[in-house]
Formats: sequence, C-alpha cells, structure tokens
Amino acid sequence: MVYLLFTFIFTLGLMIGSFLNCLIWRLHTGEGMMDRSRCPKCKHKISWYDNIPVLSYLFLLGKCRHCKEGISWQYPVVEFVTGVLFLLAFMVEFPIDFEILNLTSFFIIIKSWFVISVMIIVFIYDLRWYLILDRVMIPSFIIVFLLNLASGYLSGNLVEILWKSLICGIIGGSFFLIQFLISKGKWIGGGDIRLGFLMGLVLLWPGVIIALMLAYISGAIISVFLIMIGKKKWGSQVPFGIFLSTATIVTMFWGQVLADWYLNLILVT
Ligand SMILES: [Zn+2]
Repeated sequence: MVYLLFTFIFTLGLMIGSFLNCLIWRLHTGEGMMDRSRCPKCKHKISWYDNIPVLSYLFLLGKCRHCKEGISWQYPVVEFVTGVLFLLAFMVEFPIDFEILNLTSFFIIIKSWFVISVMIIVFIYDLRWYLILDRVMIPSFIIVFLLNLASGYLSGNLVEILWKSLICGIIGGSFFLIQFLISKGKWIGGGDIRLGFLMGLVLLWPGVIIALMLAYISGAIISVFLIMIGKKKWGSQVPFGIFLSTATIVTMFWGQVLADWYLNLILVT
C-alpha cells in the first residue's frame, strides 16, 4: 500500500516536472500555455507518446523524432529531479506513519511541492538566462503566504504565522536590499531581493538564515572550484539564484538537522 502511494507521488512529480519544463520554455519565448508543444527546430507538434516524462527521452535517444535535433538534457533531468523531490518531501514530512494525515498536513505537503516547483523554475531560468522573473516571484508570494495562513489557521496560530511570514520575508528581502544599495546594484539584482523575500516566507525563522548561509558557503566553494578548473574568471557573473533555490529546498527538508549540527559545533568547540 505504501509503495503504491510512493509510486503515485513519484509519477505525479514526473508529470509536474514535464509541466515545469514546458512552463520554463514558454516563460522564455512568451508562447501561450494552451498551444501544443513543438520541436523548437523543425516545429513539428510533439505527440503524447513522445512526451512521456523521462521514458520518451530514452526511447528517442535524446533526439527529435522528425529532424533528429538533440533534445536538451534539461528535460529528463528536471522531470526526474521533480519526481525524486516530490517523493522526498512526502517522506520527510511524514516519516513514520500516515495516521497523522489530516488537513493541516495536506497544506504542508502542498506547500512543499509548490516551493519545489518554483525553485526548479528559478534554478533553470537563472542558470540559462541569468534572470529571476517577477512573473514567477509575485504569484509565488501570494500562494505561499496564503498556504502559510491556511496551516496557521488550522493549527490555531493564525496571527503568529501572519507576523512571522511578513517579518521573515522582510528579513530575507532586506538582506539583499542592503547589498543592492551598498553596491548600487552591481553585486545583486532586483530578482535576488524578491527571491530573498520569498525564502523568508517559505522558511520562516530560523530557516531563512540557515538557507542564506548555506547559499553563500556553497556559492563560494563552487565559484572557487570553477575558477580553479578555468571555467570562470574572477569577477565573472554567477547566477546566484541557483544557490539560493537549492539552499531553500535543502533547508526546507533538513533545516532542523542543520541547525542542531551547527549549534553542536559551536557548543563543543
Ligand atoms: Zn524536430
């Protein structure tokens, strides 16, 4: 029974991943969501059997059926990663048994899945086009805020969650706003400020601080590594959104574990 549920959630994640790929592409090109997907090169409409998450990519050996143009690795990777993260979110939120499944946990898991989807869009879009879109950020503020309020209302601390969300959002946003003002917009883009605000809404306290630390540490390590292997130069642009989005997902899953580990480290030494 449990495995049936896991298979269902993983499949749901694969399908949402496929939708995210399509959404990312259409956010970029400005096409409507209702049009059928087409091969970007030969413009052939893509049939449903060539649009099955991960499997179609493998059957087609990563090439368009009609013109043999290579299909980006982004497609199967995003689908697979979304599937894995959806399942992981469920297992992290409900590790022991499903007796506790109720309306509050429903809102918690919907929030996790929503945040995963948004962060995947941020990651891919920033990696490919160095941009964090307002068209993604602003609807996300509203949806995450409402999901916070819903779970706050159900657990009887609506007012507390309301204030926590706003204050943590402002903490996350102002962290980048200060750097934006000091550097006159050279280090940080407006998109980072809005992503910081969203991270605050999602992770609350102390999650927002943990995620920012995590993003800076991993960003620094990977940048130095890329410079060392000659892939980047000092001062070249780094899409920081990829670190912020990854840190948000990691903190959402393991924020408490990381906080405990860090406190232990300080207390021991
Ligand atoms: Zn084609």
